[in-house]
Amino acid sequence: MQGTELTRVLLIEDNPDDARFASRLLDRSEHAHAVTARTTLADGLAAIRESPFDVLLLDLLLPDSSPPHTFRRAQEAAPELPIVLLTGHDDGEMARAAIRRGAQDYLPKQQLGLELLTRTIRYAIERKQYERALSESERRYDLVLRATADGIWDWDLQANRVYYSPRWKALLGFSDPAIGDSPDEWLERIHSDDGPAIRRELDRHLQGETDRFEGEHRLRTAEGTFRWMLCRGLAERDANGRAVRMAGSLSDVHARRMAEEQLRHDALHDPLTGLYNRRVLLEHLNAAVQSGGRTNDRSVAVLFIDLDRFKHVNDSLGHRAGDELLQEAGRRLIRAVRPGDLVCRVSGDEFVVVLHDVGAPRAPERAADRIHRVLDAPFHVPGQRLSISASIGVAITGAHGHHKEGAEVLRDADRAMYRAKCSRQQRTVVFDPEIHRTTTEAVHLESELRNAVRHNQFELHYQPIVELGTGRLAGLEALVRWQHPERGLLHPEHFMPFAEHTGLVTEVDQCVLAEASRQADRWRRGLNGSAPKCVSVNFSAQHLDRADLTDRFQGALNESGLSPSAIRLELTEQSLANLEASVIRRLKGLTDRGVELHIDDFGKGYSSLDYLHQFPAHALKIDRSFVSRVDEADTLVRHMVDMGHELDMQVVAEGLETEAQLHAIRNLDCDYGQGYYLGRPLEPEQVTRHLERDPSWPN
Ligand code: C2E
Ligand code: MG
Ligand code: MG
Repeated sequence: MQGTELTRVLLIEDNPDDARFASRLLDRSEHAHAVTARTTLADGLAAIRESPFDVLLLDLLLPDSSPPHTFRRAQEAAPELPIVLLTGHDDGEMARAAIRRGAQDYLPKQQLGLELLTRTIRYAIERKQYERALSESERRYDLVLRATADGIWDWDLQANRVYYSPRWKALLGFSDPAIGDSPDEWLERIHSDDGPAIRRELDRHLQGETDRFEGEHRLRTAEGTFRWMLCRGLAERDANGRAVRMAGSLSDVHARRMAEEQLRHDALHDPLTGLYNRRVLLEHLNAAVQSGGRTNDRSVAVLFIDLDRFKHVNDSLGHRAGDELLQEAGRRLIRAVRPGDLVCRVSGDEFVVVLHDVGAPRAPERAADRIHRVLDAPFHVPGQRLSISASIGVAITGAHGHHKEGAEVLRDADRAMYRAKCSRQQRTVVFDPEIHRTTTEAVHLESELRNAVRHNQFELHYQPIVELGTGRLAGLEALVRWQHPERGLLHPEHFMPFAEHTGLVTEVDQCVLAEASRQADRWRRGLNGSAPKCVSVNFSAQHLDRADLTDRFQGALNESGLSPSAIRLELTEQSLANLEASVIRRLKGLTDRGVELHIDDFGKGYSSLDYLHQFPAHALKIDRSFVSRVDEADTLVRHMVDMGHELDMQVVAEGLETEAQLHAIRNLDCDYGQGYYLGRPLEPEQVTRHLERDPSWPN
């Protein structure tokens, strides 16, 4: 209400003298007043409905209303209108009661004067405006408080009491009364890891060192778990700058923190196994190379581990089985190393372990042995029991003085692994500079080998197997050679391990089987009665895992028209350990059709001979390593022969190189022999010529 504005006054007063007196006073005022006068409450309320007023002067004693009701009815009719009561002698007490209920003021009629009346009217209007603004702001505050997801706190630092809003408590899972007003309701719930930093920030703000307080921390909830919260606050200071009060908000940022943590975790870990990823590995190795990786006691060893038959498992059993196998391999690696060592998965079936402080001699090799042991144990994936082995390459930081960054150590370990992979004897290879040269060649091998399968660059040589009692030819073993376009004729030892690693071996075997069948058929047709009775073909262990083993075999026979007894399968003893029942059934399917199974390299592999009882084999081929020492190993070989016979198997001695060996073996009642002394592996045409001359050929 500004000076020149008109103040619209409604005067409800039944006494005409009093009404006139009041109107006249207002007319004399320097402020402009427009007075509307009514003598009954009903008329007054009607006037309120008709037009707006700035203030109501209300007599409590009216003809149509008794004092206790007059004020209430007027207030209900116009809650926003400031009301000043006009009181007589006796109604002062009633007026004060009305003030408690919201009337702005009261004026005893006897004391009515110009000054008092205009001032009272002005104050009543102003006060009503303040009240309105205040209640507006309170309502807004209340609304905000209820609408916001944040909790609010208000800390009276002098009384050391905190108001926590219901939402603040609800954020932690508490009902309103469950939380008191002590600062400890907050501070004591802070996670011990976050507490010191939060208190430090709080102190800094209270001391005036920071503009505002802000901090993320975990708070213990009613359930006892911790949730991430963001707390913000601002201190209010007295004239001396001392903080007297501080208020702020609390927001739940748990989901965001969790997402961030997940992102951080994902950036550093392999999603499948949860192991560290290549990025962590390289950072770690870089740090190791830079921080004195050159001094012996602080050097680290990098073990590059590649699972040997993984690709095959993945292809034949599916990715689910492959994934499970990798996860299990990861768990085993963790168990095989010390807690401080780093275990990473760098790609498909490649893992890297970083060992620290490998000053002790042969420490990395010993660790590699441990890893071989854990990975050699059978793996169980749904419905299958699998044997997986690994090749490990080792490189040691600073060992060759040339590591400038982590990637170089890794590359060396990778090359050493490659060497191990291509070797039959060594499952762990420690890097030396010579490897650097040779592995570069091996890198091309895989694509070359695929090419060889596609263009059938394989040749078969045939080695006679001889019946020792008569000295006659009993059969031939087909041995694969790779006619490499640049490197010439390669023997299996130079590519078979690699073929096994890449899973290409089954393709190679398939080529060999097809070619051996065709060759046997050619001899059958060309030599009539002089043809060899049967040809033995080597089958890799990986073939046994194939459900289509029988079909593949039958397919090759159908193509050539041979009878199943014309082809024998040699399976190494190693490939027969831990056989699944399903594999044994598959093999039975073959023997039921008349195919003979021979156990190759017998004695070289596993100590457990349990498999011999379940396995439908026709013959054992005693490994060359025993035959070559037949004099000293006499009893051992004798046992093998006897055991074979007891199990109703025939026994073949492999690798007979001398007459003495032949003699000794014959004395042990061994059924068949094979070896350079009896005949070297030959090209098929040479075999044909021998047979044409003499069908019983070896002599
Ligand atoms: P294996 O099946 O035990 O074959 C016998 C190996 O011993 C052949 O070597 C043969 O040439 C060699 N050998 C025979 N007599 C003597 C001897 O008196 N003294 C010595 N020192 N060695 C003799 P090769 O052809 O290099 O084959 C090596 C291995 O490669 C085979 O051992 C077999 O395990 C594997 N292999 C050969 N061809 C195939 C094939 O087509 N498929 C699969 N999966 N493996 C094959
Ligand atoms: Mg063989
Ligand atoms: Mg053999």
